[in-house]
This record gives sequence, C-alpha cells and structure tokens, in this order.
Amino acid sequence: MDSELVLHSGGCHCKKARWRVYAPSSIVSWDCNCSDCSMRQNIHFIVPSERFELLGDSKEFLMTYTFGTHTAKHTFCKVCGITSFYIPRSNPDGIAVTLRCIDPGMLTHVEIKCFDGQNWEGSYKQTGIALCSKATDEDSK
Ligand SMILES: [Zn+2]
Repeated sequence: MDSELVLHSGGCHCKKARWRVYAPSSIVSWDCNCSDCSMRQNIHFIVPSERFELLGDSKEFLMTYTFGTHTAKHTFCKVCGITSFYIPRSNPDGIAVTLRCIDPGMLTHVEIKCFDGQNWEGSYKQTGIALCSKATDEDSK
C-alpha cells in the first residue's frame, strides 16, 4: 500500500494562488456531477484541512462563491478565475483540491470515483466521502 504522505504543490493558472498539500502519491479523486462541479468538469480529492497550506500572499487573490446551503466555500482566484481548491459541502473540515491544479509529476496513481452530486444526500451516505477529511493511519483508503 502506498499510503505514505508526500508533499504536493499546485495552484491556479496565473500562480497568484499557490499552495502545498500532504497527500499520498496514489489518491482517490471524485468526479462530481453537482450543478457547480459539472459546469467546470471538476474532479477533486479531499484532504484534512490541516494538511493543506496556502503559500505567501495567496489569500489576497482569493474570492469565495457560495450557493444553495452555503456550506461549500468555492474559492477562486480573482485574477485568473481558476478554482484550484475549495471547501466542499461534503467535508467542511477538509479541503477539496482540484486534481488538475496539482503540479505535473506529483502523482503516481489516481483512482476516480463518481460522486452523484445531483442526488447529494444519498451519495454522501453511500460513498462515505465524509471520512476523506478525517486524519487516520490508513490514508490510502
Ligand atoms: Zn490565478
């Protein structure tokens, strides 16, 4: 099992927002079809928020969009518009990292699972996605 955490870096298109995140090099990512994710073909993976760190003055370039339950905080760069990470409704104690905003070469394997965001409550229970932001010894799950 490749559950050891490694340091990944990434950010938005214009690089005003940069961050690093501790995650395995082999990860599970979520392909979600909710109204927001489907518009931007979002595939993301979730980490406990303490494993995510914004670098430098990145915060100054971020805007936040919310809708519906307003639980998710959709952060995006106000210069280039890219959502490189956000706080997902499924994991208010975690960070959703946009898979394609990780710097190239950092990941060895990505398993993509579907999250049926159009039937959010059912999918939330069925997938156990809430556990993704809980730090455990079994991070490869
Ligand atoms: Zn940007």
